[in-house]
Amino acid sequence: MPPLRSPVALPRPRTRAGLAGPQSDLVWLFDLDNTLHDCSRNIFGAIDSAMSDVMMQWLQLDRQNADRLRKDYWRRYGATAIGLERHHGIRASEFLEASHDFDVAPLVHAETGIARKFASLPGRKILLTNAPQRYARDVLKTLGILHHFEALWAIDHMRLQGRIRCKPSVAMLRQLLARLRVPAHRVILVDDTLANLRSARAVGIRTVLSHHPGTPHNARHHGRSAYVDMRVNRIGHLLTARRSNGLPFLAGA
Ligand SMILES: [Mg+2]
Repeated sequence: MPPLRSPVALPRPRTRAGLAGPQSDLVWLFDLDNTLHDCSRNIFGAIDSAMSDVMMQWLQLDRQNADRLRKDYWRRYGATAIGLERHHGIRASEFLEASHDFDVAPLVHAETGIARKFASLPGRKILLTNAPQRYARDVLKTLGILHHFEALWAIDHMRLQGRIRCKPSVAMLRQLLARLRVPAHRVILVDDTLANLRSARAVGIRTVLSHHPGTPHNARHHGRSAYVDMRVNRIGHLLTARRSNGLPFLAGA
């Protein structure tokens, strides 16, 4: 299988004194939307509106039909862009660029002190998002945590055999693990979407559910999810849990 495209590599942050040791071998895979920031408050609405605008223009649709098609492809494929590529020959990356072409900075909302908390979390950090790269970079920059990431894996890089393979693709996660050259049990995915965590567990990755009430699709999954190692409501909880040994899978991994 052809490899994934190379992610955007960022300069590695300096290792803080005192953080060396077994836990610094950990690799955190962080989702972006509704994990690192609250996307449901403003940004989802702006993206949905911009996507429908682009679809109206490119597919000659009225707003009602553009909205309907956008939601239909999102439900069927997990991303509207995939449906547009499969059924209309529109390059997903071009659609995503066009529909994320707005200033995100005034719309970003996140928990207080996220930059400080992020700096205290040991381990390598990689972004794993189905969003486009430029948008992801802008959000991380606004949050003040871009420099903590050694790489950004965006939807731009998730293409196998010519087709987009974004989360929750198991094939994509296997390729990612091969690229990381780290045992799966040393890798932790923090994500608000249960389907993504289920795939991660299928390849041996540890899982943290970043709960967000606005996350779609999660309601389909009832009861306790055996593939979720831990649930947090905010990033700061990762630090609290680590200090209180509430992350046994980190210590024992
Ligand atoms: Mg998310």
